[in-house]
Amino acid sequence: MAIAHNLGLPRIGADRELKKALESYWKGESSKDALLQVGKELRQRHWKAQNDNGSQWVTVGDFAWYDHILEWSCTIGVVPHRYTQEIPQPFDLDLLFAMARGRQNEQESVPACEMTKWYDTNYHYIVPELKKDQTFKLSRTFLFDQVKEAQGQGYQVKVVLPGPVTYLALSKGEDFGAGTEFNGKLDFLPNLLAVYKEVLSKLKELNVEWVQLDEAFALLDINDTWQQAFKDVYAELKGVGPKILVATYFESPEPNQDLLKALPVDGLHIDLTRGETDLVKFVSDWDLTKVLSLGVIDGRNIWRADLDKITKEVSTIAQNFGDNLWLAPSCSLLHVPYDVEPETKLHEEVKQSLAFTIQKLQELNVLAHAVNNDLSAQDKEFLERQNKALETRRTSAHINNQAVKDRVKKAESIELHRPAFADRVAAQHDNLNLPLYPTTTIGSFPQTKEIRQLRSAWKKGNVSDADYENGMKKEIELVIREQENLGLDVLVHGEPERNDMVEYFGELLNGFAFTQNGWVQSYGSRCVKPPIIFGDVSRSAPMTVEWAKFAQSLSDKPVKGMLTGPVTMLQWSFVRDDQPRSETCRQLALVLRDEILDLEAAGIKVIQIDEPAIREGLPLRREKWDEYLKWAVDAFLLSTSGVRDETQIHTHMCYSEFNDIIKAIADMDADVITIETSRSNMELLQAFEDFKYPNEIGPGVYDIHSPNVPDLDWMVNLIRQAAKHIDKKQLWVNPDCGLKTRGWPETKASLDIMVKAAKQLRQEA
Ligand code: GLN
Ligand code: ZN
Repeated sequence: MAIAHNLGLPRIGADRELKKALESYWKGESSKDALLQVGKELRQRHWKAQNDNGSQWVTVGDFAWYDHILEWSCTIGVVPHRYTQEIPQPFDLDLLFAMARGRQNEQESVPACEMTKWYDTNYHYIVPELKKDQTFKLSRTFLFDQVKEAQGQGYQVKVVLPGPVTYLALSKGEDFGAGTEFNGKLDFLPNLLAVYKEVLSKLKELNVEWVQLDEAFALLDINDTWQQAFKDVYAELKGVGPKILVATYFESPEPNQDLLKALPVDGLHIDLTRGETDLVKFVSDWDLTKVLSLGVIDGRNIWRADLDKITKEVSTIAQNFGDNLWLAPSCSLLHVPYDVEPETKLHEEVKQSLAFTIQKLQELNVLAHAVNNDLSAQDKEFLERQNKALETRRTSAHINNQAVKDRVKKAESIELHRPAFADRVAAQHDNLNLPLYPTTTIGSFPQTKEIRQLRSAWKKGNVSDADYENGMKKEIELVIREQENLGLDVLVHGEPERNDMVEYFGELLNGFAFTQNGWVQSYGSRCVKPPIIFGDVSRSAPMTVEWAKFAQSLSDKPVKGMLTGPVTMLQWSFVRDDQPRSETCRQLALVLRDEILDLEAAGIKVIQIDEPAIREGLPLRREKWDEYLKWAVDAFLLSTSGVRDETQIHTHMCYSEFNDIIKAIADMDADVITIETSRSNMELLQAFEDFKYPNEIGPGVYDIHSPNVPDLDWMVNLIRQAAKHIDKKQLWVNPDCGLKTRGWPETKASLDIMVKAAKQLRQEA
């Protein structure tokens, strides 16, 4: 009998209850008891949902007040000394929050632990910080308390924890960064394993039958030393506690299958939704005394699954496995929203093709029954509805637009390359007449409360179109005047009409949908509500031209047209899974191509296409990088290659390190790139030593994430450093990113100094 289970549920709550409870507690508006109570209710609700939908166990250990890695760090005593010399007993939740958010009061100011992206998702975890002489010590009972709590409610429990090797790989220390390049980290293993053993034996005492250890690192490009570490660790943990299921996800198991199969564990979970795994081949030498858990429901995306197809595939191998075949979502459901049902504003054809957490649990339940030839009448109805929804999705005119598909096909003949940069740069300089070291900003200016209020009142229909337009125009005029007063060279309109750089365009495009409550945790109490790209993407009318024209009419200086690039729109949305991502990206690129040409025709001489998320799309395994970068870069070229030589194309990137993809960035062939530099300690400058950047570039000279006004000499020096590797004629002067989260006073002060820095550099030249 195939068994249904899951790897973990989102914890934030259907209505973001946890977010609200946390923020109210942090503000001192509610008690710790009230917070604890909300956590308890959420766990209870989530366990019930699993149980009601046929999961064999409920998961314990996936709940977290802020982040599950941080929970585990606290459990095993990985708490840096700057927060406490000794971990209080009983453990104090405020210590966990101090690590997550820092501690600021009259006596002290302790910075938070570092936070970073969880593999290739938009979830962020708190990086464990190891001291040189790190010890590991069981410091908290929360995990065991939750086990008892679930058992008290009558449930069978499967405990979910970070695997020891992955935990080490994710951690950073005084002498090494995160990742697996540094083998010395493994010296911590013996001590770390001691605490794992202690936890495992306690779980056994509590009659927990299975523990799931998450080891996604086993799928990455890891060297022999780390491969050996995996084998040693599991040899040592064998038999100590409950049976062990090692869970891997976010990649196909195929490349590392020898390692995975050699692990001395009771079960293995693999992700069948990523890459192409030949299941029959994979199980051909499977040891049938071990459990194999198949991740068949996509835990990273929100589309209903083709259950008939999965049933067929699984059935081909099911007979031999008996109870040792488990079915699950590909990964924890942390990365999808909670429930589709309450959504009232989605087009019916879109809504019925979506599966959030609850729907995925239902799918899994029916799937297990189907594989076991045990479908109830209710299951059959479910399957019928599901198949009808799939069919609608294939045929619906709301989703499919033949004209778009034809156009994408025809676009194959579009020339992606503009004339050589050297040939077009003169035309641009004639057209723009800019000084050496031109100054500009990234696009947004401070979004004041009044601006936000006007926008949301208009959206709700409480403000007339005319009043909204006037309000926005007044703001644009103010932003233009301020920039002129500051003496900036290339101006922006300030983006007051945009709440979010993807949502703004998504709302104007066909093929995008927005939920009311489709929240996904990004970090701690912060959630995002990604747009859904459900269908062929097209544009009914120009999206930015009127604003840009108006802004340009106010000044003799060039004002940049401002757009969000195709890859970033893809990366920050839930993307349809019925065609390759690259295809959807091309549709977006063509829409942008039209918009860019419209802007150019309206007299806009400089157009910026932001691609901050381009690096986030990189596959986890390096061997797949080239393929991704090829279509990502091509999409950018497809949007931009139609313009005249004298039209200057800008792009902007931030939030990540770009050194290892600098060549691909150069291939995008933007005339100018403004790029985050100052926060990453100018590591970017290192890249310029090894690679001669061909076009113009503005390394961000100050960090906009802090209200501090930057230092003039520091900015001048940064550009001087850059000028050692890049011809000064290629250099621009600009901040790291947009200014929308800043206030006006520090914005003006900072830009004033930035302009002074550029003037000083010009004088030196
Ligand atoms: N143009 C956008 C802004 O200035 C860019 C934002 C970003 O890079 N994330 O806000
Ligand atoms: Zn940015």
